[in-house]
Amino acid sequence: MTLALTPQNAHTASVRAFKAPGASIADAALLERFNIAGPRYTSYPTADRFVEAFGPQDLQAAYAQRRAIPGLANRPVSIYLHVPFCEALCYYCACNKIITKHKERAAPYLADVAREIDVVMQQLAPTEGAASTAVASVSQLHLGGGSPTFLSDAELADLMALLRRSFVFAEPAELSIEVDPRTVTPARLQHLRSLGFNRLSFGVQDFDAAVQQAVHREQSTGQVFALVQAARQLQFESINVDLIYGLPGQSQASFAQTLQTLVALQPDRVALYAYAHLPTRFKPQRRIDSQQLPSGAEKVALQALALRSMHEAGYVDIGMDHFALPTDSLAVAKRKGLLHRNFQGYSTQPETDLIGLGVSSISKIGATYSQNAKDLESYRAALDQGQLPVVRGLALSRDDLIRREAIMALMCQGVLEVPAFAQQWLLDFSSYFAPELVQLQDYAAQGLVELSEQRIAVTPKGWTFVRAIAMVFDRYLQEAQRRAQFSKIL
Ligand code: SF4
Repeated sequence: MTLALTPQNAHTASVRAFKAPGASIADAALLERFNIAGPRYTSYPTADRFVEAFGPQDLQAAYAQRRAIPGLANRPVSIYLHVPFCEALCYYCACNKIITKHKERAAPYLADVAREIDVVMQQLAPTEGAASTAVASVSQLHLGGGSPTFLSDAELADLMALLRRSFVFAEPAELSIEVDPRTVTPARLQHLRSLGFNRLSFGVQDFDAAVQQAVHREQSTGQVFALVQAARQLQFESINVDLIYGLPGQSQASFAQTLQTLVALQPDRVALYAYAHLPTRFKPQRRIDSQQLPSGAEKVALQALALRSMHEAGYVDIGMDHFALPTDSLAVAKRKGLLHRNFQGYSTQPETDLIGLGVSSISKIGATYSQNAKDLESYRAALDQGQLPVVRGLALSRDDLIRREAIMALMCQGVLEVPAFAQQWLLDFSSYFAPELVQLQDYAAQGLVELSEQRIAVTPKGWTFVRAIAMVFDRYLQEAQRRAQFSKIL
């Protein structure tokens, strides 16, 4: 399918200009006002709070606790597996990746992952000597990167066979994979389906050819349509498309066209991320011409445009940056109050322990977070010693757990039921969260939350700002002057 893309307009977008097409100026003004720095809360505390004092022994202790508590050892787990390789560099990239055209680099890496699985299985085994017995069922597997589709069909098949030998997969389990449209064909999608993957996430970012060129990630619209069509025929249960706004060369006109194309594509889910230009922190971004970047006001207009387009096309706000068709399981889970959040974003899966495999992966075992070494050498060196390749992490305090629950309730359900929360944690809510309740008054005045003695509820208008609302409960942010380290909300 070929969709005509209109030429880009000059960068004249602004909040004022955005008013003309009939968009809500109130929303644009709110977007501008709440354009504050903040984390995405795929975890709380956020990964920048992890400490190097937390090492393999601490993670082993967390696994030991998991083994010791009756009923916990067999509780389902989620797995995230990081494939760090990419064939080409996207200039906006802030991920942990290795750019290489040498496909032969994958095999030794997968051998390392196999060694890591062995070490992890020893930790999961309920009794001494039972390491080879499958002990934990996997309810969710996500292959991310980098580019998991850097792996050949045979390597992906071997990897899945290894995982299935090591773990029992729940039936049904969510098996998802990030797909770089430039690296797959409909035949490859068929192979992924035959391996059991039932969810795909396509990294598109923008359909505009000039924007794609500016970020060094070029793929034709026809290519993406063909892949999505093939994925549907193969009956993948959910198809996600990632878009980014704030990229170089984007204008309201060009992005409106991209959104129109997206709506024609009708993915089940859309993740709409803001580009944060931090070239001193992320080297690839130095290749982006900052003169070509939309201004702050233009970014506000682009986001407002995206929100309006998604809503008009019938997509439901799942939460921060995420939308889904009303029939998608995420939207259903949200309606039923069963939405969860983990390192991959929103999920329908109840909270599970998460095993992160591969370089830089993060695990969540019991009340701990831990992260693997980010570079291949350190990762490999730990495995050479038969150790979990963990280099930092955190054991959560009671206050961390309380705040995590408050933040996740707001991010996922949009509601914090005060009496139940207070009873669960045995605390006096109004005194424990006194400063937070004062801060929330401002959000309430803007119509973004409703406050009562019974509940804190995010309003429909407040969903766009749910991250800013959650930040009120983040003790670390309140204490430290760290906001500049995080990507901007817009
Ligand atoms: S954005 Fe993704 S595909 Fe592009 S270089 Fe980074 S990790 Fe690789």
